[in-house]
Amino acid sequence: MFIHGEWLSADSGEVFQSTNPATGKVLGQVASGSRSDTRKAIDSAAEAFSVWSKLTVYERAEFLYRAHSLMMAEQDSLAVVMTEEQGKPLAASRNEVKYAADFLLWFAEEAKRIYGRTIPSARTDQRFFAIQQPVGVVGAITPWNYPISMITRKVAPALAAGCTIVLKPAEFTPLCAKAVFEIFAKAGFPPGVANLVTAADPEPVGAELLSDSRVRKLTFTGSTEVGRMLSQEAGKRLKRVSLELGGHAPFIVCPDADPVHAAKGLTLVKFLNTGQACISPNRIFVHSDIAEPFLQELTARVKALKAGSGFEPGVKIGPLVSKGELEKNENQVQDAVEKGARLLAGGCRLMEDGLENGYFFAPTIIRDVTPSMLIYRQETFGPIAPVIIYDDSDDVLSMANDTDYGLAAYVYTKELKTAFRFFENLNFGIIGINDINPTSAAAPFGGMKDSGLGREGATEGILEYLETKLGGFSV
Ligand code: ADP
Repeated sequence: MFIHGEWLSADSGEVFQSTNPATGKVLGQVASGSRSDTRKAIDSAAEAFSVWSKLTVYERAEFLYRAHSLMMAEQDSLAVVMTEEQGKPLAASRNEVKYAADFLLWFAEEAKRIYGRTIPSARTDQRFFAIQQPVGVVGAITPWNYPISMITRKVAPALAAGCTIVLKPAEFTPLCAKAVFEIFAKAGFPPGVANLVTAADPEPVGAELLSDSRVRKLTFTGSTEVGRMLSQEAGKRLKRVSLELGGHAPFIVCPDADPVHAAKGLTLVKFLNTGQACISPNRIFVHSDIAEPFLQELTARVKALKAGSGFEPGVKIGPLVSKGELEKNENQVQDAVEKGARLLAGGCRLMEDGLENGYFFAPTIIRDVTPSMLIYRQETFGPIAPVIIYDDSDDVLSMANDTDYGLAAYVYTKELKTAFRFFENLNFGIIGINDINPTSAAAPFGGMKDSGLGREGATEGILEYLETKLGGFSV
């Protein structure tokens, strides 16, 4: 753990192992922190806050610029740690490190644009000023699927705003978190500004972050179930929360779209990170007029995707993170096939060519999916593309919106009018129109409904860590 600028063992002396999901091999062990370690980290963050929040934004930005340069200089070695521990192909890991570093750069710059306002008063002898101040100590909990960028997406805006932070990474990817905090250590942030508590059991760390009144804000990325529970607890103490939760993205291919182009886009976005992304398309709606050419192209492309170790050239499909995820994927396919869906590719665990020690699931397409199937409603988090063939454009909008989630949605069309209709009427926070990568450190990321609260990245991202203070001056 990294607390008050030092690498520490857990108070209990306990450790836990991190393993490679492609091979089952143990990669290393890290401290397993609990409540007392978390309290120590909060003490440190609270002490550092009084100094860090008083630096000028230019001084805070300097530290973030340094962390950005160091991260880019370490892009290759960080990518290796990520591929080993999380399993994604090396090229994808390199892209993620760049994306992670982008947040450090963007928020170093955004720190200088923490503006206030002057507000005209109805009284001649009164002046109003609204200023923005950091909320205080932040508790952050991050997931394993994007184990480096989800850390900087929270740490960079928090630190830019003048907050200090205690972060608990996912138990599947503690080595990635350690590698990021080694960069923060090299960047020379004052002790206590950014603290890391690794833990095999997340519950006590979360409980301490929630119960300590000095923690004024909780930022979480993970499942809707855990996010809802944390938010309820935070609500009892009126802590601010930002939540990036699950998704169930629709991918709509309109009758005027180019079916080949759409199939290519779907293959790229659906199988990215082996489908383990909250913005992964989970319900593919294709108009009946172009369903056959679309499915033909999609099947050819998906059958060509190679699974294996992320270090092997040409591999596009890494392992799933755990046995539990593997079983969930198997169960969704089995349920769909039993209820009449047709399998066009994959559909089972991969057990050959050395893949048997990892959690590999074949890239899968199922067609004729209906609302009665589990996969229609349940988030997949795996390499399965469920296709629903539709006839009516009004129906498809309501079907796409018929989910408790509201994170990302994708539409393929050549008609400007259709594009606007979907953009304005889909109840999701991020809409890709003929675009499969609607994300950037400069663009607001976040969801509606059960997909969460608040936005990360962009101008909105820093506001999550700032509080408005009004001054009324009688003159
Ligand atoms: P996923 O399904 O992506 O693994 P989780 O919501 O279980 O999603 O995990 C996301 C993050 O939330 C991880 O860092 C995990 O350790 C943490 N987490 C899970 N349960 C709790 C809890 N009860 N209290 C605090 N953090 C938790």
